[in-house]
Amino acid sequence: MPLVETPALILHVFPYGDTSRILRLLTPGFGFRSVIAKGAQRPRSRFGGILEPFTEGSALFNLREGRDLFSLSSFTLLKPRQGIGRDLGAFAGASLLAELGLRAGTEEPNPQLYAVMTRTLDTLADPDNSPVFVALAAVWHVVSILGFQPEVETCVRCGRPFDSTEPSRFDVEAGGSVCRTCRPAGRLIDPSTRLELLAMASKGEPCGPAVNRALHGALLHTFLSTHLASDRPLRALPLFLEQLR
Ligand SMILES: [Zn+2]
Repeated sequence: MPLVETPALILHVFPYGDTSRILRLLTPGFGFRSVIAKGAQRPRSRFGGILEPFTEGSALFNLREGRDLFSLSSFTLLKPRQGIGRDLGAFAGASLLAELGLRAGTEEPNPQLYAVMTRTLDTLADPDNSPVFVALAAVWHVVSILGFQPEVETCVRCGRPFDSTEPSRFDVEAGGSVCRTCRPAGRLIDPSTRLELLAMASKGEPCGPAVNRALHGALLHTFLSTHLASDRPLRALPLFLEQLR
């Protein structure tokens, strides 16, 4: 049975019994995995107090085929990222990213997702940055990497590319922007908001604070609720949307 050592990002931690903890991890080479840290709740545990969400480390565990919970042998701390907990916008954004990953992620290798998540959390841990916009861009980018990229360059119904100055509308079920001919009524999306959405979804590029916050909040809410939360709501979404207001 292969013992693997891999960089790992802790996304969620919960107690198991009186003494252990279960961790949901994201790894570059093994996707999302669950491990049990036996004895981690004991005061003098070999894991110390480092098994917290958003912490990155080197995890050693036994990857036995046919299992969905692996026993964690060791976790060597690389980055604690405690700064995330000191800013509500950063915390809400990081929590939403973790929840989206856990909901839509798989066990397939995804080094790009790992790189984007860890880079974003590094930025969110630094209080000099504008965390809500960093997180908003990362959420759209992560959603795209997970296979839910919104279409914003062409109309989702007729396929016509948008003019750079043309307002459009949104068809959330169809997954993106729709032209005003195909959808004559509904909320208008100005061209700059559409371009901001494109930059966020395709490159994770944050927009500035002068954007239409209400519109961005509404688009994110409707998109995530339709595509990633149809059966149960995302717990971190309301807090994040509050920070975006
Ligand atoms: Zn159209």
